[in-house]
Amino acid sequence: MTESEIKENLVKIKEKIWECEEKSGRSRNSVVLCAVSKFHPAEDVFACLNAGHKVFGENRVQEAYGKFNDIRSSENLSLNPELHIIGSLQTNKVKKACEIASCIQSVDRLDLVREIQKQCIKLEKKIDVFFEIHTGEESKAGFESISDFKSVLELFSSGEFPNLNAKGLMTMAPFTNDESLIRKSFIQLRELKDQVNKEFPNLLITELSMGMSGDFGIAIEEGSTMVRVGTAIFGERNYQ
Ligand SMILES: *Cc1c(COP(=O)(O)O)cnc(C)c1O
Repeated sequence: MTESEIKENLVKIKEKIWECEEKSGRSRNSVVLCAVSKFHPAEDVFACLNAGHKVFGENRVQEAYGKFNDIRSSENLSLNPELHIIGSLQTNKVKKACEIASCIQSVDRLDLVREIQKQCIKLEKKIDVFFEIHTGEESKAGFESISDFKSVLELFSSGEFPNLNAKGLMTMAPFTNDESLIRKSFIQLRELKDQVNKEFPNLLITELSMGMSGDFGIAIEEGSTMVRVGTAIFGERNYQ
């Protein structure tokens, strides 16, 4: 993709998001667009930054580390991307993830939470976290069980992780053309958020990260506050 193609795609996606917001009675710009730049080069991120876009998602720490350190050390200091880690995270990658990201959306187990807390203390930094929840039959990512998830929230609720802001839930809908299954997965995430906010009123879980290139319209209808869009902005990924 050329820089101008990426910019055009970005405008198109923003317009579609506005349309979906309006259709579902949501206020304009209430849904954040996270541009998923995995497998795409730094130039593609620059194209978005030059168009005024700020929020990016990457799923592999190693790749993101090089790319975003390069971008941030470039001459143009006004370009300051906000990076979210959205892919499953190994414990030994947490240090680098905390160095480069302002949010980790793929938190799926207690030992990961403990490691993020440990690394954030060393970095004297606070970080946002989203909890990844398994909603579709086919997606394997996310907490093993809802009771595992709730026992982690229990610890958050008692103040165990002062450097982590528990901000949201994240999910991936099943890979299917069956719209009702996709919708069901988003509804499940929204209902879980409502439920945990009742059970843990001192936590403020406000965000729902759901919806990708193929299904973000449905996600917004079901209450998404952040959509993670890659292909529709940057084109197909080349996994070689
Ligand atoms: C790759 C990825 C996306 C973006 O998917 P597209 O279909 O390219 O928009 C969103 N969320 C996660 C967790 C991803 O890994």
